[in-house]
Amino acid sequence: MTDRCEYKQKGCGGCPLLGRAYAEQLAQKQRRVEKLLGKFGPVEPILGMETPWNYRNKAIATFGTDPRGRLILGIYARGTHRVVPVQGCRLQNESLNQVLEAVLAAAKACRWTAYDEDKGTGLVRHVLLRHSRTTGQVLVTLVTPTPQLPGSRNFITRLRALAPQVSGVVQNLNPRRTSAVLGTQEKLLWGRPAVKDTLCGQEFLISSRSFYQVNPVQTERLYALALQAAALTGKERVVDAYCGIGTIGLCAAPHAGQVVGVELNPEAARDAAANARRNGAANARFYQEDATQWLTRQAAEGQKADVIFLDPPRAGSTPEFLRAAAAMKPSRMVYVSCDPTTQARDLELLTRLGYRMERAWPVDLFPHTEHVETVVLLSKLNTKQHIEVELNLDELDLTSAESKATYDEIKAYVLEKHGLKVSSLYISQVKRKYGLDVGQNYNLSKKEDAKVPQCPPEKEAAIMDALKHFQMI
Ligand code: SAH
Repeated sequence: MTDRCEYKQKGCGGCPLLGRAYAEQLAQKQRRVEKLLGKFGPVEPILGMETPWNYRNKAIATFGTDPRGRLILGIYARGTHRVVPVQGCRLQNESLNQVLEAVLAAAKACRWTAYDEDKGTGLVRHVLLRHSRTTGQVLVTLVTPTPQLPGSRNFITRLRALAPQVSGVVQNLNPRRTSAVLGTQEKLLWGRPAVKDTLCGQEFLISSRSFYQVNPVQTERLYALALQAAALTGKERVVDAYCGIGTIGLCAAPHAGQVVGVELNPEAARDAAANARRNGAANARFYQEDATQWLTRQAAEGQKADVIFLDPPRAGSTPEFLRAAAAMKPSRMVYVSCDPTTQARDLELLTRLGYRMERAWPVDLFPHTEHVETVVLLSKLNTKQHIEVELNLDELDLTSAESKATYDEIKAYVLEKHGLKVSSLYISQVKRKYGLDVGQNYNLSKKEDAKVPQCPPEKEAAIMDALKHFQMI
């Protein structure tokens, strides 16, 4: 398939990487993730799409007026408020392109006019569409600056005739001068206010204002990775923070003891609770609140968790959230992120709080754009107190649980008795010095030129004391 698009030339900013070979796009994203996360642990090869086209299940288009005064529907040119009329967007599901054409035709037939930000005139601002891969249905949300929408019945009749896949039409009121597309008030004009989609065998209802991943094919792979990383056995207490409509938590629920989710957006939190009922997930509860506030309270009440999923927006999480998460002592955290820069910042803190990144998996959820999604598995360093350990890839070679436990006991003992933090690397150096078995290749760096820090004498003496205490020498 050709990677040209006439609208890019006309200023549409939707696909900045379009025109570059897909393999090269993936390599670029891989390099970015490795640069940001590689210092915390191993990064797996990025999961790309087999057919990186028409993947989006959501479309947002803006109404405008062409130089001849006719109504158009399209996308803002990059960095401006000029509408480029786009037809047949290559990233959107074909059905959405068809519905967009139908929306424009029906709006023209009703003689609707485009909202003009400067003059404050006009009837319609934007349209948002959501497509369900499962049912093929499309939810249409018309954004208007005022509650008036004369001829809306006529619009719906025409729209349905042109696009029978439309299953609901919602009017969203956004009177503010803002770049946000949606306002907070909504009215159902016809049909159903949400579409139903299936992910990982679970059914989800998605209303217009709830967050839902835009690439269902890759989202399923993303969630499969997140679940696999969580390694649930059916008993765990699981937290799903920044849960949206509950997708990750509800995919985890059949494999967990209990799931509690938290989400700020009231519609999404309501969708999550409804989705729990819809899927018969009696072990799942969802709360509408700021994730930091909620988790801080949970931690203060002494609540524990076995696994914490977190999937914050681009800005990442907060230090307070991460501290509360660590205080709940989950053995694993699975951090899903749409911005590796803020994720790297949060990982800095999590590693200081006694967690280690075991692995990162980049997933290409947004082909032809600069965005990349990552799943990161963190595991708790098994110590009684948080120990700041010099992270070293070589630590991964220490595979036996038995020897790990011993190391952690030594660390905890040294910290308690001598007030010193020692790394596994130092312990292994001392053990090797005294002829004890240290496990395969443990303190030999994989990188030939890497400098391996050497255990200082004070710490060596403390480790020796611990080895004696545990009757190892
Ligand atoms: N895990 C979901 C949603 C991820 S997107 C999924 O995979 O679909 C991030 C979500 O965080 C959005 O639903 C957004 O509404 C929510 N959010 C943003 N700020 C928040 C906050 N401070 N507390 C809780 N949720 C928040």
